[in-house]
Order: sequence, then C-alpha cells, then structure tokens
Amino acid sequence: MAHDILVAGGGIAGLAAAVGARAAGWEVRVFEKAAAFTEAGAGLQLGPNATRILREWRLLDRAVLRPYEPPRLSVRDAVDGRELGTLRLGTAARERYGAPYLTLHRADLHAALVDAAAEAGAHLHAGVAIARARVDGDLAQADLDGGTRVEADALAVADGVWSALRGQLVGDGPAPASGHVAYRAMLPMAQVPASLRLPDVQAWLGPRMHLVRYPVRDGEALNIVAFIEGRAEAGWDQAAGADALRSVARASCGELQALVEAVPHWRLWPVHDRPPLRSEDAMARGRAALLGDAAHPMRPYLAQGAGMALEDAFALQKVLAACDGRVLDVATCLRRYALDRWQRCARVQARSRRNGWIFHADGALRWARNLSMRAAGERLLDLPWLYGGR
Ligand SMILES: Cc1cc2nc3c(=O)[nH]c(=O)nc-3n(C[C@H](O)[C@H](O)[C@H](O)COP(=O)(O)OP(=O)(O)OC[C@H]3O[C@@H](n4cnc5c(N)ncnc54)[C@H](O)[C@@H]3O)c2cc1C
Repeated sequence: MAHDILVAGGGIAGLAAAVGARAAGWEVRVFEKAAAFTEAGAGLQLGPNATRILREWRLLDRAVLRPYEPPRLSVRDAVDGRELGTLRLGTAARERYGAPYLTLHRADLHAALVDAAAEAGAHLHAGVAIARARVDGDLAQADLDGGTRVEADALAVADGVWSALRGQLVGDGPAPASGHVAYRAMLPMAQVPASLRLPDVQAWLGPRMHLVRYPVRDGEALNIVAFIEGRAEAGWDQAAGADALRSVARASCGELQALVEAVPHWRLWPVHDRPPLRSEDAMARGRAALLGDAAHPMRPYLAQGAGMALEDAFALQKVLAACDGRVLDVATCLRRYALDRWQRCARVQARSRRNGWIFHADGALRWARNLSMRAAGERLLDLPWLYGGR
C-alpha cells in the first residue's frame, strides 16, 4: 500500500512538497487555509540551484511559467550611481551551472506548481486550515479547523513564516521582525519610462537601503523591490504611501530617484526572519518535516527563500522514495531529510543577513565595500557553493 502525507500550506514550499511526494509515489493531501490557491503579485529570482529542480519536475516547459532570463546582474552604488560589479547570467550561467538563472512572477510559479501537483494526483483542499498536529505516534494526526481529524504516515509543515504548527512542534515563538521593510511594485513594462527599461537584474546599494529591479513575464513587466530600515505599523502586504522610502532615496543619484518616482502604487511587506538554524531539530520532528519559511525564514538578500523551499521539497522527495516503512521507517527518513538540509539552509540564512549589513553600509564600510566589489567583481557575486546545488 502506498504511504500518504498531509501537507499544511499551499504556498511554494507546500505545493513543491506535494509535487515531490507524488514523484516519490506517496498519496498527498494539501490543506491551504486561504479560500483559494493564490500568490501575491511580486517577483522572484531563481538561481540555477532552484531552476534545476523545476527542470527535473518538467515545470520549465509549462507555458504558465513565463520565465525571463536576464543577461546579467549589475550592482551599483545608489549614491553616485557608479557600477560596482557585474555577474554574467544568461548563457554564462547555463554553461557554469547547467541550468538557467531566471526571474519569475510569483503567481506564475505558484500556478505552475498547482497544475503540476493536481495533474500528478495530489488532492488540493483550499479554505481548510490545519489547527493542530500530533506527530509522535504511529500516525501523523492533524485537526482541521472545524474539528475533523485527518491521519497519514507523515506531515509536511509548510505554513510559512508565521507558522503556527512550528510553534506546536518545535516550541519556539513567532519569527521576529527584522527591522527592515520591503516596498514592492510590479509595473507593466509599457508604463516604465524608456530610459529605465533595462534587461538586467539591477541592485542599487545605498546607506540604510537597497533596491532591486528586474523584468519578469517574458520581459513584459518590471518588478521593483526597495528595502529600508524601519518597521511596518500593521500586517502583511499593505498598500503603502512611499514617504519613508522617498525620504531615504533622497540621498541617491537621479536615476534611482526616477525609478522610485516611476512607481504609482507601492505595497509594503514587513521582513521577518529567524537566526540561522543551529541543528536539524527545527526541520523534522517525529513524523513531521518542516519546509520553506516555516523551517528557515530568511531575509530576501540572497534571493533564495523560494529556492531553498524547492530544494527542501526535492530532498524530501528523495527520502520519501527511500522509505519502505520497515528498514527505513518514516521518522528515520524525515530525520535524514533534516540532516541533509539544515546546514545549507543555515548558511543561506546567515549569508542573507550579512548581505543586508553590506548592502546598507555607510561611511568607511561603504567605501571598503565599493573598493572590494570593484576589485573582485564577478568573483564576489558568483556563488558556486550555492548555485551549484548539492
Ligand atoms: C520582499 C521579498 C522578496 C523575495 N524575493 C525572493 C527571491 O527573489 N527569490 C527567492 O527564492 N525567494 C524570495 N523571497 C522569499 C520567498 O518568497 C519565500 O521564501 C517563499 O515564498 C516561502 O514559501 P512558503 O511556501 O514557505 O511560505 P508561504 O508562501 O508563506 O506559504 C505558506 C502558506 O501556508 C498557508 N497556511 C498558513 N497557515 C496554515 C495552516 N494552519 N493550515 C493550512 N495552511 C496554512 C498560508 O495561507 C500560505 O498560503 C522573497 C521574500 C520577500 C518577502
């Protein structure tokens, strides 16, 4: 008889877990608390470590994905506008890593994962939250909102940065605010002033702020995200006036200010993260595996949160495929998953935090950063340990 797994959360991590578990031959039920399986209107960069997995699952061929392949990453100083370093992407990334570096609309990646999971035979239930979980008995048990109890051999916990299930299983509190907020916008390329339409991923580094922009959807839309130091007054993904952003950007060069002014409406996202994982414990408990932001929420300064979620799901697929319930029982397999993943995720979390300090540097630190980026350029920006995968 096939094993079965419950998945809490229908974001990128949960749907990827569903695709991976089906590929391993497991029965899958996904429970998503939102009324529909949807994603926010924002962009994502995916390095070759992540696109390699999408290719393995035949997702790169799906028309709904509409990926964009930028030719290069350009890093510039936000104050004087000078280029500090570049990294060749496009063909160069494919040649180096055997997979492309892509930018995507999150909703397109999400839609591709929903289609792939459903076609593979996963059962997707929207509008159903998992309220409580028990994973230390002979079966994983989940109580749905409304009181129904469901059982399976395992539970994949992928309920995001504010994971309530993590609190029950791992016993720690909510992921704290990082003290940074993100202003995000997605503009149809036709509405972007011609002088600001560039094919590259561009990152601007300024004192206590940075801004990243790149085309998505076959180049038909421009994703812009600016990070500043501060706190959001209220919840997630709110419409926002950009006074605080404009006031920080005032110290920047004309081109960057023009980019900020070109956006009519911003949305504000508070950035939450946790310190890097210190052991495998927060990635598996009994019959539960934690994936994505529930396991290792990170600042998006290495553009790898979704990439790590895809890697988690692929690693989970491998252990589920090996699990025979006798020699290799479920809890042992999930522990093996956690042992495989935690150090790499911790390294990415730590590097993401460090990038924030470097990107936002001022004074002597900014001067030293610019000097070393100009001297080392591509050698600093290329990350074989990351993009090469495991
Ligand atoms: C500004 C910004 C920029 C980013 N840029 C990048 C980038 O360029 N590249 C990259 O790789 N990553 C990036 N990331 C990170 C990436 O977006 C996240 O790491 C990724 O989306 C996490 O996916 P997830 O499925 O773990 O969580 P989520 O997307 O939060 O999904 C969790 C799901 O679980 C559901 N849920 C919650 N509780 C329950 C429950 N009890 N029962 C059932 N369902 C539940 C929620 O409704 C939600 O749908 C960025 C993040 C931010 C904030």
